Amino acid sequence: MLSFSEMGLSAQVIKAVASMGFEEATPIQEQTIPLALQGKDLIGQAQTGTGKTAAFGLPLIEMIDMDLETVQGVVLTPTRELAVQVAEELNKIGQFKRVSTLPIYGGQDIDRQIRALKKRPRIIVATPGRLMDHMRRRTIRLQQVKITVLDEADEMLNMGFVEDIETILQEVPAERQTLLFSATMPQPIQKLAQRFMRNPEIISIRTKEVTVVNTEQNYIEVPEKQKFDVFCRILDLQAPDLAIVFGRTKRRVDELSEALSKRGYSAEGIHGDLTQARRDSVLRQFREGTVELLVATDVAARGLDISGVTHVYNFDIPQDPESYVHRIGRTGRAGKSGLATTFVTPREIGLLRNIENITRRKMIRKPIPSTIEAFKGQQRIAIEKLLHVAEEEDIVKYKGAAEDLLEETDSVTLLSAALKLLTKETNPKLVSLTEEAPLRAKTPRNFRDETPRARKNPELKGRAKPFGNRAKAHADRPTF
Ligand code: ADP
Ligand code: MG
Repeated sequence: MLSFSEMGLSAQVIKAVASMGFEEATPIQEQTIPLALQGKDLIGQAQTGTGKTAAFGLPLIEMIDMDLETVQGVVLTPTRELAVQVAEELNKIGQFKRVSTLPIYGGQDIDRQIRALKKRPRIIVATPGRLMDHMRRRTIRLQQVKITVLDEADEMLNMGFVEDIETILQEVPAERQTLLFSATMPQPIQKLAQRFMRNPEIISIRTKEVTVVNTEQNYIEVPEKQKFDVFCRILDLQAPDLAIVFGRTKRRVDELSEALSKRGYSAEGIHGDLTQARRDSVLRQFREGTVELLVATDVAARGLDISGVTHVYNFDIPQDPESYVHRIGRTGRAGKSGLATTFVTPREIGLLRNIENITRRKMIRKPIPSTIEAFKGQQRIAIEKLLHVAEEEDIVKYKGAAEDLLEETDSVTLLSAALKLLTKETNPKLVSLTEEAPLRAKTPRNFRDETPRARKNPELKGRAKPFGNRAKAHADRPTF
């Protein structure tokens, strides 16, 4: 294992890494950083949660010349949330060298961005649509760019950003260094790399070495109609601190988060149709732990790094193995353990086997818990809370009242009442969700995902022709 100080990084950058709590490099970092520092073009493939941001972030910050006031690094990301997250990490890495990084994304006031650009950020992290806007307005110039990074490249292509990326890459000087990071390596990425990269070195970290290892993977077979009730029992039984729940469609996410709230769970939904302000606020609440269950579509949750996610629930089994790997990559991050539970209807069992074949991991079948078991799970939590308070907290001022109570009522009755108050009992409120069947057609992933996602991506809306044509041609297709 190479440590960060053995990679030829400067003292300022090593200090930043230490202050971020990174002790040793992850496998992708170990292999990419030394090559990137030599100026090589790179393709880095590793699963989510393996530290790809720092893999490009460290050499990127290292290569910035502080004597030049121009933008020298451009990172492209598929979503706004990811742009913000990557910019935050780059700002941390650049804190001692004083390299400032600005996120630029659609949905944010452009004048505000223009003002921020006047402060001379050396690095821009942008979603492709908004960056092109700034290029047209000449508020961002890319003539001095030395490094370009494509982060989550597969997802950008899935979202239909390929022409935008090409347009942007044509604007940056040809002698630039290009780094491409992606969790998967489908054909279109290889094509893009052939056109825009110079003899890229390919570094691929095998899936089995990473996150999935820390995540226990279970499944529960249950008919569609009982799924929600069974899911609630599982929640009661497992009592996750912080969990992400995946739904198949935006409607599903809306219905599911509403249904969970009705039953008394602390849940909020997130998907591409919500306003930026709403998405930000939901994510903030989730990060703070005010909201315990984040209900999301694949796209909304892609690439987000939220620490402390203990459980992932695939309320709907994903369509393809790649999404599965991404979803469960939201937990068990940076060496911590996680639990992933997938709900599968009898009709969908083939999808599950397919995932198992590709990930080469068997999911463990778990029985449907009974309502009694779910109740016992909640009761156990109440008891733990009670014992914790009894042992750890200052309860002197309650003792007088307790003694008085015990003179009138026996201790078992009193303690039972206290436990009842503390136990979250399943709220039997009836809930019905609209059924969302999986896609029937087995078209290749890239083709299938591209158009519907492109259409719902707010960044692409209202965009000038000729880019908008393709989305329209498929307007009769369902959105996923
Ligand atoms: P990816 O882009 O591969 O999905 P991220 O770059 O988002 O992964 O990193 C996942 C998490 O791991 C982040 O919280 C990040 O701060 C942390 N991390 C990255 N590199 C290291 C390291 N070398 N040591 C410890 N934690 C790390
Ligand atoms: Mg990433």
